Amino acid sequence: MPVDALTLSDVLDAAVPFALPLRRRFRGIDVREGVLIKGPSGWGEFAPFDDYSDAAAARWLESAIEAAFGEWSQRARDEVEVNAIIPAVDSSAAASLAREAVLELGCRTIKVKVGSADLLDDEARVASVRDVLDTALGRGRGAIRIDANAAWDVTRAAAALRRLVAYDIEYVEQPCASLGELRELRRLVEVPIAVDESIRTSADPGSVRVRDIADVAVLKPAPLGGVAATLRVAESLDVPVVVSGSLDSSVGLDTAVAAAAALGDLPYACGLGTGALFADDVAEPRLPVGGVIAVGRTAPDLPSLLAARDRLDDDRAAWWRQRVAAAWAVKG
Ligand SMILES: [Mg+2]
Repeated sequence: MPVDALTLSDVLDAAVPFALPLRRRFRGIDVREGVLIKGPSGWGEFAPFDDYSDAAAARWLESAIEAAFGEWSQRARDEVEVNAIIPAVDSSAAASLAREAVLELGCRTIKVKVGSADLLDDEARVASVRDVLDTALGRGRGAIRIDANAAWDVTRAAAALRRLVAYDIEYVEQPCASLGELRELRRLVEVPIAVDESIRTSADPGSVRVRDIADVAVLKPAPLGGVAATLRVAESLDVPVVVSGSLDSSVGLDTAVAAAAALGDLPYACGLGTGALFADDVAEPRLPVGGVIAVGRTAPDLPSLLAARDRLDDDRAAWWRQRVAAAWAVKG
């Protein structure tokens, strides 16, 4: 069935609302919910966070429809190098998570959350991860990137980065909230700056002159509208791109991996190592092996899919189906 001929009822007939528990609270949630959609091409995932507008959700629906009913762009590689993520935990917990990521998953790049109330907590966390990487891989061989989730103003960001630069930081993601702050910070520090939120929520993601404010752009394929949309945005930017997931199930992760694999130029490890955050998934989790994730198509296994479906009560399942309809109504 061509994507253009699809109707809302085709999509709803193929939709399975789901809920998956996380191992620990992440982005303010304990359970990841969404809708899986099955089509002739495979499965797609529609999982806009609760605070997304219908317009933002519509892009996510386009991504799910592309996966289930459309075709993904041709790949430039068969596997994608991924980074691990260390949340804002204390330094000894950070060290043990980092060891697990390096020794068991083969990751050579670790993203560390920063932006704690006390900069010393951030520094202790980053220092312990640097220590693990240097011990396991050799001095300077593993990469650390940090993510402040816009927690800093320019003054605090500059102070933090002047301290943290000692641990050899690949880049800092979203140190400040606004484009103006990022532009100002960039003149004050040497650590490269990556931008994500400001691109994703911009009305026209392709219109931001990223080179003026940052050195790297983090793109999230599902909220951008899928693989083809991600390639379009990447082409319109004049900085290297890092592809990142959106706390996706194994099915949703396939889309992000496919987008990363389709990019001609992919100089950095991608943020696709989030499978380990799930306590339960709809299929065998898509975890990095030897630090990479292979391009692929995940089909949910039936018992896991039914369990994920049955975790939602009828009202919540109906709410998700309504959300699909609302996104459909505003999508282009
Ligand atoms: Mg981020």
